[in-house]
Amino acid sequence: MINFDYVRVSTIKAAVDAIVKDNNSLWLAGGTNLVDLMKKGVMTPQKLVDINNLPLKEIKKEGNKLIIGALALNSTVADNELVRKEQPLLALAVQAGASAQLRNMATVGGNMMQRTRCPYFYNTDMPCNKREPGTGCGALKGFNRMHAIFTDTEKCIAVHPSDMSVGLVALDATVLLSGPRGDRRIPFQNFHRLPGNLPQKDNTLERGELIVAVEIPENKLNKHVHYLKVRDRTSYAFALVSAAVAVDLEGSTIKDIRLALGGVAHKPWRLTEVENFLKGKAATEVNYKQAAALAIRGAKGFGLNNFKLKLAPNTLVEALKTATGKS
Ligand code: SF4
Repeated sequence: MINFDYVRVSTIKAAVDAIVKDNNSLWLAGGTNLVDLMKKGVMTPQKLVDINNLPLKEIKKEGNKLIIGALALNSTVADNELVRKEQPLLALAVQAGASAQLRNMATVGGNMMQRTRCPYFYNTDMPCNKREPGTGCGALKGFNRMHAIFTDTEKCIAVHPSDMSVGLVALDATVLLSGPRGDRRIPFQNFHRLPGNLPQKDNTLERGELIVAVEIPENKLNKHVHYLKVRDRTSYAFALVSAAVAVDLEGSTIKDIRLALGGVAHKPWRLTEVENFLKGKAATEVNYKQAAALAIRGAKGFGLNNFKLKLAPNTLVEALKTATGKS
């Protein structure tokens, strides 16, 4: 690990100023991913700006919105009474992520900012367009078992590793930012991005923009929810595929529904078209299977991850059945 400077700030303005002033600086929150990346030489900031003292830990209700501070711990979010009552899908998704120890350190903002776990990204001897643009993608013809089946390019087929973000994208969350040019809001769906020509860029943040909170609008999707994460071991592993499902049922008719997949793309994968297909239909396995076939349209395997072309629709069907009690 290289030597680096360390400063601690206690206001949002000081946090933003410190990053804008110094191009080689990064914010440090829980550090559960960043410190690993620094140890491996994948990220080499010359200065860390510790933001843990910022007043961004609160979880509260404002009007009909649930606001979760960017520095709220993952374990706090998963256990919070308001979250569990009003947005149980989020609690389940957060609970599915990482280990208890990591959830006790990791923050909401840091969870969104974590980097892919593609092994080529972490090995500085291997080609990787995300770590070093223009060097190629080691995973494309290599060990790509964990990789994307939806992508807009073959320059990078990495997946975003966050479970929490799959829940947030399904719940129509908004990301609240503060930056050098003032405050900004980004719909969660537009926060993470597909790799395109800039695989090194995971999200649409501009330099110096700090995640302050996420906001989730009230909904009636808190009774029939499920987050199904399929992974190699149940104790602690990233998703091969995950499915976030929240349904508003009227009798056995689907009145409203939110769906997203994880482990399939460079960003959490919202399934708006599939939601529209299911709205107004009966909550039956037949309809779920048709919906899953629609969900997988346009997907493509790259060899070792071909199994995801079956696993993803099957995971969605199982999650829908569990959420709506049809299993
Ligand atoms: Fe790098 Fe992305 Fe290819 Fe992995 S998939 S080697 S992160 S470019």
